[in-house]
Amino acid sequence: MSRPGTEQNPLRVAIVGSGPSGFYATEALIKSGLTTRVDMFERLPVPYGLVRSGVAPDHPKLKQAMQVYAKIAESPEFRFFGNVSIGKDLQISELRELYHAVILTCGAESDRRLGIPGEDLKGSHTATEFVGWYNGHPDYRDREFDLSHDTAVIFGQGNVAADVSRILAKTRDELKHTDIAEHALDALDKSNIKHIYVVGRRGPAQAKFTSKELKEFGELADCDPVINPEELILNAQSEAELEEKSSAGNRKVYDLFKGFSEQSASDDKKRRVYFTFLKGPVEILGKDRVEAVKLEKNVLSGDAFGQGARGTGEFTELKTGLVFRSIGYKGVPIEGVPFDDKRGIIPNTDGRVTDINGTIEPGLYTAGWIKRGPSGIIGTNRADSVATIKSLTDDLESNTDSAQKPDDEALVKLLQNKGINYVSFADWKKIDTDEISRGEPKGKPREKYTYVQEMLDIIK
Ligand code: NAP
Repeated sequence: MSRPGTEQNPLRVAIVGSGPSGFYATEALIKSGLTTRVDMFERLPVPYGLVRSGVAPDHPKLKQAMQVYAKIAESPEFRFFGNVSIGKDLQISELRELYHAVILTCGAESDRRLGIPGEDLKGSHTATEFVGWYNGHPDYRDREFDLSHDTAVIFGQGNVAADVSRILAKTRDELKHTDIAEHALDALDKSNIKHIYVVGRRGPAQAKFTSKELKEFGELADCDPVINPEELILNAQSEAELEEKSSAGNRKVYDLFKGFSEQSASDDKKRRVYFTFLKGPVEILGKDRVEAVKLEKNVLSGDAFGQGARGTGEFTELKTGLVFRSIGYKGVPIEGVPFDDKRGIIPNTDGRVTDINGTIEPGLYTAGWIKRGPSGIIGTNRADSVATIKSLTDDLESNTDSAQKPDDEALVKLLQNKGINYVSFADWKKIDTDEISRGEPKGKPREKYTYVQEMLDIIK
């Protein structure tokens, strides 16, 4: 028998997770020149991961990636199995029986913890919950956010914090023609939030926003950005950071902050977004629910590009009833796969899964955020997945194992025997078409289904 990757012995690959890295891994396999069969598993009935339920509704261009993935999905080598949860419905050991390789591309589904008192008080939420809620993710469909307060505080100064604060700041008119979930649009329309604080533990030169995202705060219909100019005074190390060519992005962000600080907020606008720096969250205060946040004034210490935040022992409090922790995502372990709990990733060498001591687990690979951590934009995942597929194909060349794996029918039979009601790509297309037509009368690109059962009912 020939090596996997030929007509007689196709390379059989399972991909766990249907976000960008899963689709880019599929694309790289299809383009590898090997004869291959790719089965993609997704726990929801709908594909595309964070492109569907993470990218902000008012950033439709970023969602165009879905069209690229739909094209990849048309390849005859590809099958989609939605509504199948790996680690629950099917075990990794079962996939390893059926496939030459299993690639874990399941992203970072949870959040980092602040580790401060009061973090879990009512009214303190993760960015993931809010983003999932306004994007109609079934896991977060029924979350409630008390928007009756006049002040919201967001911890973190990355692009997710930008998304959360911008969605809080926008008017109904600014959102009504996006694919924002209807329940969120209605709730946000009644929002009383007027003051939105976006709090960074380090300085303006270290904020992680990209300039394109930050610039949008100067273009809002009913909200102005506010910055105290004194907070933009830099220490020598931060000046040095911004002078480096590699910091062109941070320089643009800093210049935008400067521009915001020089404008006065319009009295005609209902809302303000305040960017504030060098303030570390030390406690979320309140008896039964959030009443305020306690912040410690920080200073930066360390060399340029290595500056950390150090508390000064000087504290302030900010009254608020609503807190969002937007300090980075974290991966979630999958039953049967090694996991580095500290970093929230699957330990790996160039995409080859290893145990915690670095020993390679043959046949197991990983790509995307669960491989490298939650960083970069959608496109960053393409090169990352290509690199993993290179490791996989290199391994095939150096491996003399020519084992043949069961044919396409074996998986279908296994799922049927287990009574698992899986969703095919053709089924998803029915949901897709239905969502698009539901959106049309409202002038929206789609009105998403937000409950799993609703999605399954459409297929029936
Ligand atoms: P991020 O860019 O890593 O930002 C995390 C923020 O949280 C940083 O400001 C960080 O400050 C802060 N932070 C971390 N731990 C903290 C703590 N204990 N206390 C206070 N602050 C803390 O993460 P993200 O915003 O979740 O974004 C994830 C990735 O998705 C990024 O690559 C982002 O660019 C991307 N994304 C892109 C878009 C887009 O292209 N439009 C939209 C959304 C997300 P330090 O710097 O001090 O650690």
